[in-house]
Amino acid sequence: MAGYCQKDHAQYQDKIDLVGLSIHSDDFFMKQAYQQALCAQEMGEVPVGAVVVSGNQIISRGHNQTEMLHDSTAHAEMLALTAAFNYLGAKYLSDCTLYVTLEPCVMCAGATYWAHIAKIVYAASDPRRGFKKYHKNIIHPKTKLVSGVLKNECGKLLDLFFENLRN
Ligand SMILES: [Zn+2]
Repeated sequence: MAGYCQKDHAQYQDKIDLVGLSIHSDDFFMKQAYQQALCAQEMGEVPVGAVVVSGNQIISRGHNQTEMLHDSTAHAEMLALTAAFNYLGAKYLSDCTLYVTLEPCVMCAGATYWAHIAKIVYAASDPRRGFKKYHKNIIHPKTKLVSGVLKNECGKLLDLFFENLRN
């Protein structure tokens, strides 16, 4: 499945302490998205990760793969959404929540509109390319939006990545 990282992330367990978190909380699922971002980082991709949750279960995962797939649209959200459609065999995700470590861009926010996604939870804001800069109504009017969950951890990964690129 494209975008689904199947690597063993045991080496990151110290960084993502799941102990004490309710397994159905936004924090818990964002940590799963964060794991995907770490996987992207390891592959030299922009460290953004996403998971789609339905009925408190993760049904798909994705992380940025623009380098590996030679596809500038292979954002974490696009890959996770496509995998979720495939998993459910449905073209709408009206009972699903998308967790993503960075505010979606216009393309990905548009994709969640078409997917009729119930809820989007993102971590760090993206003042440069995030959809809110353009129009917050790009997402579906019925879609609930939550921001800032684990924003420091997820934002730090991105800051470090771009800092290293410049050096
Ligand atoms: Zn995007």
